[in-house]
Amino acid sequence: MDELKEKLAFISDMDGVIYHGNRLLPGAKEFVDWLNANNKKYLFLTNSSERTPRELREKLSRLGIDVPEEHFYTSALASV
Ligand SMILES: [Mg+2]
Repeated sequence: MDELKEKLAFISDMDGVIYHGNRLLPGAKEFVDWLNANNKKYLFLTNSSERTPRELREKLSRLGIDVPEEHFYTSALASV
């Protein structure tokens, strides 16, 4: 775990990791708070092409987590 905490950057899936449907999963907010508090770089990935980074930000915001748009990377962006 200490080795993991020393990493500079994190890439995380969202669906099933951060939330499940419209429910925030345990530890998700603490994880994002920890990323911010420790100045980690991070990116949330999704293979859902239906939502834009803005919509993903809004979704997380509704669940109580504020993550700026530039921290999201979707399959639609990858296709472009
Ligand atoms: Mg998933």
